[in-house]
Amino acid sequence: MNQIELIRVLPKAELHVHIEGTFEPELMFAIAQRNQIEIPYQSVEEVRQAYNFHNLQSFLDIYYAGAAVLVVEQDFYDLAWAYFEKCAEDKVMHTEMFFDPQTHTDRGVAFATVISGLQRACDDAQTKLGISSHLIMCFLRHLSEEAAFETLEQALRFKDQIIAVGLDSSEVGHPPAKFERVFAKAREQGFLVVAHAGEEGPAEYVWEALDVLKVNRIDHGVRSEEDPKLMQRLIREKMPLTVCPLSNLKLCVVDDMAQHNIRRLLQQGVHVTVNSDDPSYFGGYMNDNFIAIAEALDLSHEEIKQLAKNSFEASFITDHEKQKWLKQIDALI
Ligand SMILES: [Zn+2]
Repeated sequence: MNQIELIRVLPKAELHVHIEGTFEPELMFAIAQRNQIEIPYQSVEEVRQAYNFHNLQSFLDIYYAGAAVLVVEQDFYDLAWAYFEKCAEDKVMHTEMFFDPQTHTDRGVAFATVISGLQRACDDAQTKLGISSHLIMCFLRHLSEEAAFETLEQALRFKDQIIAVGLDSSEVGHPPAKFERVFAKAREQGFLVVAHAGEEGPAEYVWEALDVLKVNRIDHGVRSEEDPKLMQRLIREKMPLTVCPLSNLKLCVVDDMAQHNIRRLLQQGVHVTVNSDDPSYFGGYMNDNFIAIAEALDLSHEEIKQLAKNSFEASFITDHEKQKWLKQIDALI
């Protein structure tokens, strides 16, 4: 079995994917037409062109134009279902999806509309595709603490459907500590917590996510390598990092995939996992990410298997479920 064959047959868990970032041009165009919403693109081809963004602003322009066509429950269902079909192709057997309620509630879409569409797709994925999932609600960190508190308040009604809260959007200038009190309240309410840190922001933000927000996982965290003390701590505490290789390349966190540090992190004993982040914008889903690093970094079969195992170990499924998947991975040659 070569690297690519191994990647295709390995069961995997995805722990860092923004459901709004899985919006493919065809679906966006179809939903815009269905909802009779004007978008600044005349055809699927033009939408696809806009996906070839060259800087953060042009990415955000298309990202928000896309999100604006999502209005009714069925739209959120269709968005999530399309992603689950990609999971099935890539043998992603469990996924923990981020959603950004503020992107929708700020446009007047009810929280209940968003979550009921996503949840129905999650239920169907379990019954029709055998894929399990959890939902993680993210606060947009460029918005205020007050806005995050309001969102948390709205989420309490749906507590049973949301396993964790997270923190995403532009990192620099919005350190984790800005949301200390919101995260304390979320933990009190029984949510697990995760946060984007150490992607474009410094290692210091990773310390803050650990010490101030008391996260269960770090999203990205690749800049942790700049701080040896932090590295020791991540290794000692077996703190997972949800690394997103193609996203790092597209957003110039690394200039060249051959320079990506995921293999070094893995070899040093950091609990790294592979994820797709915003796959329709950043150039690929789970297996594309695995193949990109396997080829650029010449990963061994053992390393590829370890990354797949890490993904289940770092997930929020039960220990019993984890053992089941680890055994299946071990059973593959
Ligand atoms: Zn992300």
